[in-house]
Amino acid sequence: MIFIIPSPSRSMSIKVSFPDGSERVFEDSISVKEIAEGISHSLMKKSVVAIVNDKVVDLDTKLTANCTLKIITSDTKDTKDKQILLDTMRHSCAHLFAQAMRELYGDKVHFGFGPEVENGFYYDFELTDGTKITTEDFSKIEKKMHELAERDFEVIRKEWESKELFLFFKKQNELYKQEQILKLNNINNIEIDGRVQSMSGNNGTTKPSFNNGVTILNAIYYGDDKCARQEVVNRFGVLWIKELKQNFSNIILSTYTQDKFTDLCRGPHVPSTGFLKYFKLMKVAGAYWRGDSKNVMLQRVYGTCWATQKELDDYLKMLEEAEKRDHRKLGQQLDLFHMQEEAPGCCFWHPRGWTLYTIIQNYMRKKLQAHGYIEVKTPQIVSKTLWEKSGHWAKYREHMFITRIDEEDMDFAIKPMNCPCHVEIFKNKIRSYKDLPIRMAEFGKCHRYEPSGSLHGLMRVRGFVQDDAHIFCSEDQIASECVAFYQLLKEVYDDFGFTDIKVKFSDRPEMRVGSDALWDKAEKALREPMEQMGIDMELNKGEGAFYGPKLEFTLRDAIGREWQCGTFQVDFNLGQRLGAEYTDADGSKKAPVMLHRAVLGSFERFIAILIENHAGALPLWLAPVQAMVIGVSNDFDKQVEEITAKLQSAGIRCECDLSKETVSYKVRHHSEMKIPYIITIGKKELEDGTLSVRKFGEMKNVSFDINKFVKTVEENVKNKQ
Ligand SMILES: [Zn+2]
Ligand SMILES: [Zn+2]
Repeated sequence: MIFIIPSPSRSMSIKVSFPDGSERVFEDSISVKEIAEGISHSLMKKSVVAIVNDKVVDLDTKLTANCTLKIITSDTKDTKDKQILLDTMRHSCAHLFAQAMRELYGDKVHFGFGPEVENGFYYDFELTDGTKITTEDFSKIEKKMHELAERDFEVIRKEWESKELFLFFKKQNELYKQEQILKLNNINNIEIDGRVQSMSGNNGTTKPSFNNGVTILNAIYYGDDKCARQEVVNRFGVLWIKELKQNFSNIILSTYTQDKFTDLCRGPHVPSTGFLKYFKLMKVAGAYWRGDSKNVMLQRVYGTCWATQKELDDYLKMLEEAEKRDHRKLGQQLDLFHMQEEAPGCCFWHPRGWTLYTIIQNYMRKKLQAHGYIEVKTPQIVSKTLWEKSGHWAKYREHMFITRIDEEDMDFAIKPMNCPCHVEIFKNKIRSYKDLPIRMAEFGKCHRYEPSGSLHGLMRVRGFVQDDAHIFCSEDQIASECVAFYQLLKEVYDDFGFTDIKVKFSDRPEMRVGSDALWDKAEKALREPMEQMGIDMELNKGEGAFYGPKLEFTLRDAIGREWQCGTFQVDFNLGQRLGAEYTDADGSKKAPVMLHRAVLGSFERFIAILIENHAGALPLWLAPVQAMVIGVSNDFDKQVEEITAKLQSAGIRCECDLSKETVSYKVRHHSEMKIPYIITIGKKELEDGTLSVRKFGEMKNVSFDINKFVKTVEENVKNKQ
């Protein structure tokens, strides 16, 4: 995307409208910065970027026609503006990192891409002498970054003809920048030594066919530059091109320069490096150029960047806290589950972990029953023919595990989702409008291929169970189903202790099925009930699926992290595509609208979120083992077993520890296992008929009458505590 500034028209005055509704007229084209300065010097000093007609631009941008203008300052309190501010700062911080690298490593460092990401940025680069950056270099680089920031260099945008810019980067031996410029110019075939090399060869399936280790990077060395040639020969072999024959298109590219460092970039950026103060380099990893394992491996340094010291401190503290709560570590420590190489992305649930899993599943099952759902179960392995009809075979195949039955000469897929199977159940009966809505739920195990590098404990897996359901309904029922779903979701999140919920609404994308009238209706059906309930929604414009609009529900955990769990998607397509129909009141046949919805998302991921949210100390109603009974010595083993049995028969998930360890060891051990109640039994307790109970996190034992203890547990479980 290239930002093109309309050429100034001399004679026309410009009307600029501000967010507060005020307007100002300027006699000539004027930059945003000049407007800010005109309002007040202090405003100009803290202005970072601006939004002109919905587009985020640099302060230097000249306004040449009537427009709306919103200036974003470094102290903005508006959530959306703050995000734009942070994105701009983070991206600028990537440039600052690169500038520092250039200062420290000179021409040896070549840069790839350096975008902003959540909470920060990264930059890909390589040191051509083979040196590798390690975390030990971070303090040196950070120091240089701070130094460059303090010198407050202006960040200057410049626009270039593509070829001119290509030559500029060629002079610096910046091969990745050159390749990117070729890509942007759609130059896909390069003649090398008289043979045509396809540029797509390095990111598609075809390998370059004519030499070892050839990548497109060779192709960008041309002409008689001896030095560059030698480097190519050293690094890649022998290929060489005499001349770049292809023409550059006439697109205009932009660079940003701070002091002596210039980077290819479309911007926007902070006005000067002095705006960057609160950052930290976080980690270094390997990253293939353009993410393709056939390409050369670069190094990637990640950093974080914030608008204030407090934000940076809070973020670092949160990370520290998150590490302590890492569900992978706690999963082992609390003996809940493990994962191993032989089943990447799939979980081995241990007894305690599986208990937790089934508690949640049983809870959800009850909730669904109460909310008018029916539960079904559909096959795990389903023939290719159904996936072809549903469209998954064509569009989703790379994520599907395929299994082949040689005897039948047939391809099957292990189901990646339940939807098509649910349509088959719907179709198996004649349906009338009176049957609708049908809310069909399944705790269906699905498998999806995820690259091994993206797998992360239970958060990102290949095998998982969604709390999945599909609601088959008429167009008129979308709104009421949306309300009912939200009520269900709210009840469930409340019970799990998540009360801070964000709702995102994604409306029609450019490519879509269904008439505009249908989209109008469906979007209204999702939007209006939320508005009526007074729920703030964030709009993701054009981000809906091609088959319908959607709502996404994000919850915030105990350390402020956000997790998108719930989803409610309208689908006009699949029912029709698979030939599902019902008879409407007027006797006509209609395809049902399908609503794909989930509250928790997947059980696996939700359990990971729960573990991290509670730092492993699950509330009583979820704890796999609610109470552990131990005797003050092994002399009491028999009585300990009796009491355990009694508590178990009262419905408490209770175990006893009859090992030969000391009491203090046992208390410590089961506290580390974060068991909510540890019950000690000695002579006194047996005489009084009481229990000496220590609650998790407390240092003192409290004496309980056994029946009162049972009541207390029941009460807490009922209240989801
Ligand atoms: Zn940039
Ligand atoms: Zn679905």
